[in-house]
Amino acid sequence: MLDLLKKMHPQAECELNFQTPYQLLVAVILSAQCTDKRVNMITKDLFAKWGTPETILSLSQEELEQEIKSCGFYHNKAKNILAATEMLLREYGGVVPADRALLERLPGVGRKTANVVYAVAFGGNAIAVDTHVFRLSHRLGLSDAKEPYGVEKDLSARFLEKDWSDLHHLLIHHGRYLCKAQSPKCYECLLTGACLYYKNHNGESKRSK
Ligand code: SF4
Repeated sequence: MLDLLKKMHPQAECELNFQTPYQLLVAVILSAQCTDKRVNMITKDLFAKWGTPETILSLSQEELEQEIKSCGFYHNKAKNILAATEMLLREYGGVVPADRALLERLPGVGRKTANVVYAVAFGGNAIAVDTHVFRLSHRLGLSDAKEPYGVEKDLSARFLEKDWSDLHHLLIHHGRYLCKAQSPKCYECLLTGACLYYKNHNGESKRSK
């Protein structure tokens, strides 16, 4: 399955733009319920002016909200970014910890965000379960868990630890570009032979574009 996913998505990697672990952390917080493309548009300007914990913290909540308002849920996101930044400076000297448990202590940082930062910024092995990973895990019959942590545990048990981060990016790309929520492009997919959804739907989308 991994080989076939790699064949379909040879460029699969994090699509958020960032220069430092801190910038990635901010970008991942902004990406909740928002596209990476939109986040990149916001952070291009934001990081050019305020790209460090110290400079972000010079902004008031209202000023930060103005900078990020096009990504939705901007009130809570601004509040969380400022609270996480304040804690980073107070407890970690402004350095984002390369430790999932410590990352999860930051305000607004749940397991998914911690896993993305741990894997992408620090090369750690982690599977962040977002909406794409959750949907594909069920379609492919890799998990029937009802919540993301259960899916993460099922995927972790099925795949080698060294492949967890690759799997995460590959499933996200597959979900974004081929196995879309409303109309999966099964006619372009190499996983039909291993896919529970395809089997149960008798390949109904095989010829329909
Ligand atoms: S066969 Fe269709 S449903 Fe299954 S993974 Fe591929 S695109 Fe998704």
